Amino acid sequence: MDAFKPHLASLAPYPYRRVEARVKLDQNESPEDLPAAIKQRALERLAGLPWNRYPDLHAEEVRAAVARFAGWPEAGVAVAPGSNFLVLALGQAARRVADTAPSFAYYEGAARLAGVEHRAVRLGADFSLPVGGLLAVLAGGPGVLFLAQPHAPTGKLFPREEVLSLVRSFTAEGWLVVVDEAYHQFAGSDYRDLARENPSVVLLRTFSKAWCLGGIRAGYLLGAPEVAGKVQSMLPPFLVPAHSAAILLSALESPGYVEDLARRIAAERDRLQARLSRHPSWKAYPSATNFVLVRTPVAEAASRGLLARGILVRRQDHHPGLAGCIRVTVGSPAENDAFLAAAGELP
Ligand code: PMP
Repeated sequence: MDAFKPHLASLAPYPYRRVEARVKLDQNESPEDLPAAIKQRALERLAGLPWNRYPDLHAEEVRAAVARFAGWPEAGVAVAPGSNFLVLALGQAARRVADTAPSFAYYEGAARLAGVEHRAVRLGADFSLPVGGLLAVLAGGPGVLFLAQPHAPTGKLFPREEVLSLVRSFTAEGWLVVVDEAYHQFAGSDYRDLARENPSVVLLRTFSKAWCLGGIRAGYLLGAPEVAGKVQSMLPPFLVPAHSAAILLSALESPGYVEDLARRIAAERDRLQARLSRHPSWKAYPSATNFVLVRTPVAEAASRGLLARGILVRRQDHHPGLAGCIRVTVGSPAENDAFLAAAGELP
């Protein structure tokens, strides 16, 4: 390992282990596949492509379709195989990285990979935005602030005025603020207006959740052309494969299903929360996403008890402040019923 940079010695693999279960509620995926008619169109499109040829250099056709869908200038769109890839590029670009603790693990992963300073500021009471603590980070000089809105893994939607004021303070000091909107469809929130008026704000969005395309690996960035262009040029050429592009173009032609799914998932989420509020010892936190964070007496026992009943969820008790917590993805009504029945049997 002498050939590798010393800071990589402490780099660990992404913490995820695949487990088989009857009801899979551990990865915040959509419980439904892409609608059959769109899938069929994607397959036809794919069959008509010459597979011997390279795809677009930087997914130009997909970027144009995303730009039309999002009402955004094409030059301000970057596309990659998963928003993780965009986080990776932003981590490489950043002089330093700040986020909240807990937060989506890959922000720190990207900072560690890049070997840059990572500052994580603990959320306040009831998972509130730690404005004071974050402002204290400004003193160290500019970098990239990652803020998931709604937040992961808590599911909380921060008040818009707090986010706006924080963003103003950070961008005034030369920071780039990345608002990660991975779950925005389930919250009905949208920060495009902020990114439109402030060139130091970029949005990240993913096809993995409300678009029902977790297996396809695709995400996009919306921002000022200088920032989006720089991020895109940091990514290797021909990164989005032709088959992904064919599927994404077909989905982007008929995006109506996304809102429909998001509405039904949000209704199921609210039902889950209402039912969980009657549990004698579990506490479900309010969520604006397609998952619910639940505090149980002991996360290991709760997740093991659920798994024994065929329900797979994700432990979150490794995060600061989340002792006892598990994260439950909102599934189909039948899957949610199965989860609730199992939860009802556990202490
Ligand atoms: N951001 C957040 C907040 C997430 O929770 C996730 C997925 N777990 C991602 C980004 C990654 O999305 P993608 O599948 O597009 O890489």
